[in-house]
Amino acid sequence: MKELNELAKKILDELVQIDKPLLVLAGPGMGKTYALAYKIKHLVYHKKVGPKEITVITYTNEAAINMRKRISLKGEKEIYVEQSLQPSIICTMHKLGNRIIKDNYLKLGLEREFKVLSSGYLKQILMADCAQIVGASRKDAEETITCRQNGNCNKVSDLKCKICDEYIKLLRKFNYIDHDDQILLPCKLLNENKDILQNERQKAKYLLVDEYQDINYSQWELIKLLSGDKPGNLFFVGDDYQSIYGFRGGDPKYIRNFEKDYSPECVVRTLTISRRCPPSIFKGAFCMAQKYNGGYDNLLNEVKFTEDSDANIKICNFDQQNIEADFIARKIREIGPSYEVLVLVPTLDYAFPIKRALKKRYVDFTCDYDIEKTDLYLINVLLGWLKNPSDNFLLRILLQKIIDRGASDIPAKQTDFVGREDSRTKREIALKQISDFWKDIGKGKTLYLKIKVLKNNSSFRELLNIISELRASYKNESTSCFIPKMIDGLKIWKDTSKFSEEINSLIEEIQGLTIAGGECNVRILTMKKAKGLQADYVFIVGLENNVLPRKNADNDSKAEDSRLLYVSMTRAKKELYLLHSEKRDKNITKTKTSTTERSEFVDAIPTQYVDVYS
Ligand SMILES: [Zn+2]
Repeated sequence: MKELNELAKKILDELVQIDKPLLVLAGPGMGKTYALAYKIKHLVYHKKVGPKEITVITYTNEAAINMRKRISLKGEKEIYVEQSLQPSIICTMHKLGNRIIKDNYLKLGLEREFKVLSSGYLKQILMADCAQIVGASRKDAEETITCRQNGNCNKVSDLKCKICDEYIKLLRKFNYIDHDDQILLPCKLLNENKDILQNERQKAKYLLVDEYQDINYSQWELIKLLSGDKPGNLFFVGDDYQSIYGFRGGDPKYIRNFEKDYSPECVVRTLTISRRCPPSIFKGAFCMAQKYNGGYDNLLNEVKFTEDSDANIKICNFDQQNIEADFIARKIREIGPSYEVLVLVPTLDYAFPIKRALKKRYVDFTCDYDIEKTDLYLINVLLGWLKNPSDNFLLRILLQKIIDRGASDIPAKQTDFVGREDSRTKREIALKQISDFWKDIGKGKTLYLKIKVLKNNSSFRELLNIISELRASYKNESTSCFIPKMIDGLKIWKDTSKFSEEINSLIEEIQGLTIAGGECNVRILTMKKAKGLQADYVFIVGLENNVLPRKNADNDSKAEDSRLLYVSMTRAKKELYLLHSEKRDKNITKTKTSTTERSEFVDAIPTQYVDVYS
């Protein structure tokens, strides 16, 4: 252990001296973020670089906060940097981009108080509306979502980009930008204005980027622009096996192209001391990911482990999801509250039986919560719109929610998957009528005024009744009248069990937030949120084909799903359980059958690293 620590220090000391574009590759638990902090320390104290010349980019806000905390800890001498010398910019690329836009909003034709569209759900609705405005179907919008992030967004003759174009016009009309704009608009500014470019490059004279594997095309371009003529001061860390944000346009090809992008001067180094996983867990996860992603042929021989535990990966098969859930609860009870436990699920639907089993055994836990799918969210949207009836976007969400859950005469969302042809057409036509209103909303005309025009249209009668009655009772009556109207009109909380489930989940979440890192050591999360976390014990649920890998996966999505599993598996410090159940509720599998098949990923783990229980 001591020898390994000395070796690690020697490697880092050499690494931070490199004055060329540097990419540090390191697997999970191999000190990527530490290397970044080490570099900050080196720049500040050895090269005397000022706080205004270093920019540190992290992938999430949480990671930015953690980085600042880490370098502020006096106890960690090797990376401690006193407050006044710390880099002034440690943030996500979106935050950096937003600041550049704010400084130059006039050049972009924005008003000073521009707003940022942050709801992914609203973005989907607006994209689909815009698809219909340009004469396409709502479904066509699905593929358009990542168009701008992927950087293919200039061919306006393309149907997809006509949708993009219409969508951007719609956002700008209401003085909005979205998360993609937060990167794309700064790129435009830097490309077109030499003075802004010089100014921003000065602030990013030393540019340090964490999680380089997750960047998408536009983020790659922004980094290129900022690094400019002196790429000697670039310091990137990442691991292409941990690239899991394809749904945001993230693509490991940028990390794989690093040498091409920054040749001939650039250097790539690999960190190979593993400080988190027991050897079998890391090796098993690695071999599985390698089968689908290739590369790193000699890495397994080079990695050294500070943990010499001989714990193998535990693979458990169950007949039914309830037995599986009970197994997890029993194990967690045995483990006891002094260890950290992560339960990782493909989607939050998988969490329900586990939550029930944990409650039965009086185990405290926190669970992720998808607020946009709840009735509470719908109420919040409704109240927001009632308070501010000129907020067209809130009303648009409200309309979609009422329609989708089948509370009006317009066919519900499930029609798109299981409905008859004529119902599908009816739904598409009704939504087209709403979409078309965007063309002349603005300048005093609200969506509400436009939509009232439809009152004689039979499809809309019910929908309009619901919203006008809610408006009237909100204005004139007491809560004792308003609340029953709301429950009835929006069709929320039809039974008390759903009501209590939602309230419980919300309170669990709030409590979890307040005691994070405190006494509650069991967390249930979706796998996509596992990055950056670690725990003593990790349970991964849903190792089934059509889930992991996803249904009809081509080679690229299979590779991405294998990376998601790789990231999930390598969170474990002591023990790792991979779970599979032969039967699952259809409302979890979202298919016609409740029978499942064990994931091919499990078979891709070499048998010497696993113990099978059934
Ligand atoms: Zn496009």
